[in-house]
Amino acid sequence: MTNHLYDALIAPHAVVPSVFLKRPEAPDLTFEDFVALAARIAHVLKKRGLAPGDRVVVQAEKSVEMVALYAATIQAGGVFLPLNTGYTTDEVSYFVTDAAPRIIICDTRSEASLSSLAKEVGATLLTLNADGSGRLTEELQAHPSTFETVVRGPEDLAALLYTSGTTGRSKGAMLTHDNLLSNAKTLVDQWRITKDDTLIHALPIFHTHGLFVALNTSLLAGTSVHFMRSFNLDAILSAMPQSTVLMGVPTFYTRLLGDHRLTREAVRNMRLFISGSAPLLAETHVAFTDRTGHHILERYGMTETNMIASNPYDGERRAGTVGQPLSGVELRLTNPDTGDPVPSGDVGMIEVRGPNVFKGYWQMPEKTAAELRENGFFITGDLGQFSEDGYLSIVGRAKDLIITGGYNVYPKEIEDVLNDIDGVSESAVFGVPDADFGEAIIAAIVPKDGTQVDPSVIADTVKNRLARFKHPRSYEILDALPRNTMGKVQKNVLRDLFRGDGS
Ligand code: ATP
Ligand code: MG
Repeated sequence: MTNHLYDALIAPHAVVPSVFLKRPEAPDLTFEDFVALAARIAHVLKKRGLAPGDRVVVQAEKSVEMVALYAATIQAGGVFLPLNTGYTTDEVSYFVTDAAPRIIICDTRSEASLSSLAKEVGATLLTLNADGSGRLTEELQAHPSTFETVVRGPEDLAALLYTSGTTGRSKGAMLTHDNLLSNAKTLVDQWRITKDDTLIHALPIFHTHGLFVALNTSLLAGTSVHFMRSFNLDAILSAMPQSTVLMGVPTFYTRLLGDHRLTREAVRNMRLFISGSAPLLAETHVAFTDRTGHHILERYGMTETNMIASNPYDGERRAGTVGQPLSGVELRLTNPDTGDPVPSGDVGMIEVRGPNVFKGYWQMPEKTAAELRENGFFITGDLGQFSEDGYLSIVGRAKDLIITGGYNVYPKEIEDVLNDIDGVSESAVFGVPDADFGEAIIAAIVPKDGTQVDPSVIADTVKNRLARFKHPRSYEILDALPRNTMGKVQKNVLRDLFRGDGS
């Protein structure tokens, strides 16, 4: 019986006694025990009515049991749907109604508030807590450690993953077995991941980064994983001497740099530091190299497409860029209005095609038709530019493009100038409605710790470096930029905050 993803990621570990998940608070879990745990959970899912193609919604704290639940869902032919642990009951209600799952798994604390919702959609509600306790794990005791894997082909759905909701309401991306497997194979190959690696895993597992980029590659290559509940400097620094790879969002790296224990000695065993999910400032890249001797490898991807581009393993990892398209992934830049390819060197909408690209948005045929072309290219919503020698830079999101007085202004160009100014730690530039210009430019600035910045000095620098139509109308000093769990700056929050300011 074949199951495209399960056969490649999980089945080969059935008799592998080495450690898969190392966790500080409990004994290590071997690969073979993981496979057995997944099989027992698959029995529970089946007994509770899961049929091939049914969704399994899980909103639970990160745990090894939740990783096994992912494997179990695939083995039982289901579609895995993890939800951000930060979502409120109202938000969960939207996703559950949208996805109509057969089974919902939540923390015991949310059980009471979700039980009527589960009844409404006809789903079974089971519990799973951070320590692995709950009805899911109670029920699996009664079941054997092998399960007859349900047949699934490359085009069958494996996951329904909601986007981060950075630009609006989250959309459910339908990901197939082959979307996930083809991308994992490419990443393992490109980043040289092997069973001799040990990955530090401190990302959430409800998002493509922590779930697919980190865990599918580890399962495919047979890599051991230091499985941490969340980002914790002490835990990461103490795991480094026995680890080889770290996958993180940019804030991991700025926080590591803020700790004097990050030294060349501390990273002596590490082979690779990878960053993604949000732009890594060139300054962070350079500071990390100065401190550790390592060049962070920045890559680019999204929920709908898995990973798209990566800096090279060998060769120059260029700060401020996301490298080249991954092998097997086609990438082109187009004019957002006409859809025609832009001349080489120009900024354009990033479009991507390949086995990594999703099947469409769950129950949103119009949105799917608008963003997924018939020829297979997906319109990402990100604007990019290629250097002469083929390195891609993300210029920003099309939705964040500011059109002021008829001119297109890319926030990143202004942010780069601001970030270069002494005393500025980071910045975010965005547009707000303006009666005269259509949109007016606002800059939010976060000063470096213990530094005062003078908006008039900043304005003078900007005047010297950028054309007049790119000058922000106002400079707002903030303690921190609003970010979501994946470290993405929430420009919609800033726009709402400063809408109408000064007009
Ligand atoms: P939504 O689509 O709901 O607004 P989202 O796009 O933030 O949310 P994700 O799929 O989690 O949801 O994130 C993908 C986006 O993250 C990309 O489209 C891109 O804008 C950004 N991104 C990922 N990696 C990088 C990177 N290395 N540099 C810059 N941006 C990145
Ligand atoms: Mg998106």
